[in-house]
Amino acid sequence: MQIEILTIGTELLLGYTIDTNGAELGRALAAAGVRVTRRVSVEDRAEVIRDAVAEALRRTGAVITTGGLGPTSDDVTKRVIAEWFDMPLEFREEIWQTLVERFGRFGRVPAERNRRQAEVPRGATVLPNRWGTAPGLWLESDKGLAILLPGVPGEMRQLLHHEVLPRLAPRVTGGVIRARTLRTFGLPESSVADRLAGAEADVAPLSLAYLPGVYGVDLRLVAWGLPAEEADARLARGIERLRQGVGDHAYGEDDTDLAAVVLDRLRARKMKLAVAESCTGGGLGERLTAIAGSSEVFVGGVIAYDNALKVSALGVPEALLEQHGAVSEPVARAMAAGAARKFGVPVTLAVTGIAGPTGGTPDKPVGLVYLGGSLEGETWVTRSVFPGDRGEIRARAAQAALFGLWRRLG
Ligand code: AMP
Ligand code: MG
Repeated sequence: MQIEILTIGTELLLGYTIDTNGAELGRALAAAGVRVTRRVSVEDRAEVIRDAVAEALRRTGAVITTGGLGPTSDDVTKRVIAEWFDMPLEFREEIWQTLVERFGRFGRVPAERNRRQAEVPRGATVLPNRWGTAPGLWLESDKGLAILLPGVPGEMRQLLHHEVLPRLAPRVTGGVIRARTLRTFGLPESSVADRLAGAEADVAPLSLAYLPGVYGVDLRLVAWGLPAEEADARLARGIERLRQGVGDHAYGEDDTDLAAVVLDRLRARKMKLAVAESCTGGGLGERLTAIAGSSEVFVGGVIAYDNALKVSALGVPEALLEQHGAVSEPVARAMAAGAARKFGVPVTLAVTGIAGPTGGTPDKPVGLVYLGGSLEGETWVTRSVFPGDRGEIRARAAQAALFGLWRRLG
């Protein structure tokens, strides 16, 4: 079974709203074995919507839309698609009554314009919406299949899982679409590819995608249309093959957070962690405290942004700052050791760098970051120059700090 996704809303094209519905539909449909062959976003304009639906049905025979089912004048999806299917809109009293009840529960009465939401194309199946006011619609004829869902992400999700996927399931033949992702850090994409030379052939017929980002390079294997058991077995072997290639650069699978993996290793060793942050400004603490249960391991830390605080809160010798500057190997080391002393913990991480966009010099460019750490009295510092803008440099620095510790705990 194949389908196209059409997300409708001028706000999507202006970039004010990110098309999360398209992404969510893609994931859920693939997991259900429905292959999405195209995804398009269009404005709230009748002729554009009509053309997009007509093209999708001509190509693929099935389309799922989100958006434009509301009561306002910019919501034209239903009228346009009903016309295209030659299914005239009919007012349905029972839908109107559900709307009246729903509004009543919130102490309101529906407006006259809400009556449009009780109109249904003749012959269409109504997908009841208990989570909002606009029902979903299922239009099917010799012209093809069009599934219309509301734009509000929470309502779209509920209707998808309760009404749409169960109706699509009987049409799915020829296996599942399943994916597994191996997460790596510390190697640029090209080096990962070098290490994985020949892997594409080894994992076939699975597809292998390289997905680089600030958290490293994710490697995604996808099984397309295989029987479920075969897909799982091939994915397991495929992940093993990738692990052999990238070695200890692989820190987890799927949506594993490196911070969680670090906390697990520390918890297993019954060790507490503190941080001393300069250019990440609390980003490292944020990553760690975002993980539920982190308080067992993470005691806290200090944002020593100004040099004066590096001295007073961490005991970094003033002479080191004067001689080498705040962004330097000795200062990163002194921050890591100082945090261990001040906070009385065996494990620390320290970050000092130049996040930019200003402040770089020829020998200390924007993106230069020193990552310090200490583990039971032994300290280390690594020097990196990270690419990207200020936000990316800070995110990469926090991830790299975690990675350095994770490896030392391995
Ligand atoms: P609508 O059903 O067109 O009235 O959309 C209602 C609201 O849902 C809009 O204001 C957007 O905030 C949100 N929305 C619509 N389409 C999408 C989409 N594709 N992804 C995420 N949010 C959306
Ligand atoms: Mg809209």
